[in-house]
Amino acid sequence: MTLDTIVTTLVISVGLLSGVHRLEVLSCFACLAVLVNYIVFITFYPACLSLTLGVSRASGGNFIKKDNNPVVERVKLIMSVGLVVVHTHKWLAFKKDVEDAFQSFVLEEPFEDHGQWSYGNVVVLTLLVTLIVFECKNDQKQSCFKTQTVFALNEEIKNKEVQTDSLRICSSTNTKPCFEDPAAFLVDEDFKDFHKNTTCRSLQDCLTVYQSNLCANDLTDEEVILLVKNKTIALYEIEKVVNNPERAVQIRRKLLGVQDLPYKSYDYSKIMNVCCENVIGYVPIPLGVAGPLFLDNQLIYVPMATTEGCLIASTNRGCRALLQCGVKSNLIADGMTRGPVVRFCSAIRATEVMLWLEQPQNFAKIKASFDTTSNYARLIKLRSRIAGRLLFIRFVATTGDAMGMNMLCKGTEAALTTLHRHFPDLEIVSLSGNFCTDKKPSAINWLEGRGKSVVCETVVPQKIVTTILKTTPEKLIDVNTSKNLIGSAMAGSIGGFNAHAANIVTAVFIATGQDPAQNVGSSNCITLMEARGADLYVSCTMPSIEVGTVGGGTGLPAQAACLEMLGAKGANVVEPGANSGRLARIVCGAVLAGELSLMAALASGDLVKSHLRHNRYNKDRV
Ligand code: ADP
Repeated sequence: MTLDTIVTTLVISVGLLSGVHRLEVLSCFACLAVLVNYIVFITFYPACLSLTLGVSRASGGNFIKKDNNPVVERVKLIMSVGLVVVHTHKWLAFKKDVEDAFQSFVLEEPFEDHGQWSYGNVVVLTLLVTLIVFECKNDQKQSCFKTQTVFALNEEIKNKEVQTDSLRICSSTNTKPCFEDPAAFLVDEDFKDFHKNTTCRSLQDCLTVYQSNLCANDLTDEEVILLVKNKTIALYEIEKVVNNPERAVQIRRKLLGVQDLPYKSYDYSKIMNVCCENVIGYVPIPLGVAGPLFLDNQLIYVPMATTEGCLIASTNRGCRALLQCGVKSNLIADGMTRGPVVRFCSAIRATEVMLWLEQPQNFAKIKASFDTTSNYARLIKLRSRIAGRLLFIRFVATTGDAMGMNMLCKGTEAALTTLHRHFPDLEIVSLSGNFCTDKKPSAINWLEGRGKSVVCETVVPQKIVTTILKTTPEKLIDVNTSKNLIGSAMAGSIGGFNAHAANIVTAVFIATGQDPAQNVGSSNCITLMEARGADLYVSCTMPSIEVGTVGGGTGLPAQAACLEMLGAKGANVVEPGANSGRLARIVCGAVLAGELSLMAALASGDLVKSHLRHNRYNKDRV
């Protein structure tokens, strides 16, 4: 007999007692239906008896099913008590009618005298008293649990006497720990006393506490873990339920048994819902500095986050070689892209739409809807290509100081809605059709540019080439032609006409909170070298540097500090886009320094020697 049975029985009985003929008839039918399952417990008194029995067994957890919502169960209990009151009242007031009704439909032996009524009242009274006692006991148990600390891991656990299903281990008396093997969850120095200080109530109690306000503030870490393992709380939402990002990180680490990963002294509130999910700590990457880089008449120290030995040393040498001559940079173009793919019934129709988009007045309509989505994103051009009945439209827009991917997505979506209004047969296949192209090698970024297109150049005096770079302009030009031009052509490279642009790009990207995955397109670079008299002319052209100084990870304290070093932190309120443009130019300038140094090392045959010096100086064999 469950609480549900009690409630059903009581509700039906109310119908029977109502004195309203139709209701009584309906209740009779209900009785017949219920009779199939509950033939014995159809009447009020056995139900009461069952409830009493159920309550007496409640401590064993049988009365209220463990997986039931405790709030619903409580409502049912209250309902039962209410119905009992209704019954009592009804029977006292309309004793005769009730007896008739029960005689006709249900009861084999109607109550006939006051002695039986007294018996009924005793049952009702017993029921109420039992309920009150049960409630009190329950409350007492809960408050007791709040202060109770459950002790060390005892021998019982070590001997695996606990049940195998860790979710069912917590008994209502709370004398056993929550996990089959709590040691599996021990992490860090902080948690080595886990066995001694584990506070853990039963799963049912934890559920009750959690579901009462959908918050885990009143639960211990181990209890939260219990609910995560029970799938009541998702792994990713621990921050939300404990309302404390660092505690959430600690809990997740305990849960996963992560130990040797730093997590302290980090403001997790800054990355929550912005930069990272399911956080368990952070991976420290050493940050070095190359410079000063003499770029556009300014001395700049370039922060680089890397674990590749020699990289910063090499870039630093390049910067030193450029100190006297300096580097000049130029922003050639600026435009982030998103390239959705849409479909029509035929190639003819797709072509029609492509031609429609090329009309200036139609471009204006699309631009109007695109531009309304942001204060900074401004559509500057569309590039369309047909593949059968598929139409790829590359939206190109300036995005101020933001790298702009989110902005482009919003703008493109709005523009496609407008286009759809003009061409209702247009089917949007994907907001990104890889015609953008983001984070994948592609010729289109190399040819048309993406983000910032930058060029840097300098003339390095012969003397510097020989003294600092330990080579000659002739040798450098020769190696550059053979390696960066012919070699890359032989490899069928697209945008890879350089020695190691990706090294510098990635290290600066990580330091400044850029999306490191965008090093794919951002590292497109052609390095050119030629003689300028006895001196060396060098240029680096990078058509697709995808950077921003607002949004993404750029606002995090460490990354923002690196941007500050570069004079490119945050939004430029006077000239939106100036900061991100500056960052792109610095990236290109640093790449030029890196190129010069590595190419010199190759030209002089010094590469292996210098790597061994910086990385593995004490090893002859590697
Ligand atoms: P992204 O589009 O690069 O993914 P976000 O989605 O974070 O970047 O958008 C950048 C946010 O910064 C936008 O809300 C934008 O309004 C705001 N913002 C403030 N100042 C600027 C600025 N100078 N340039 C670009 N965006 C800016």
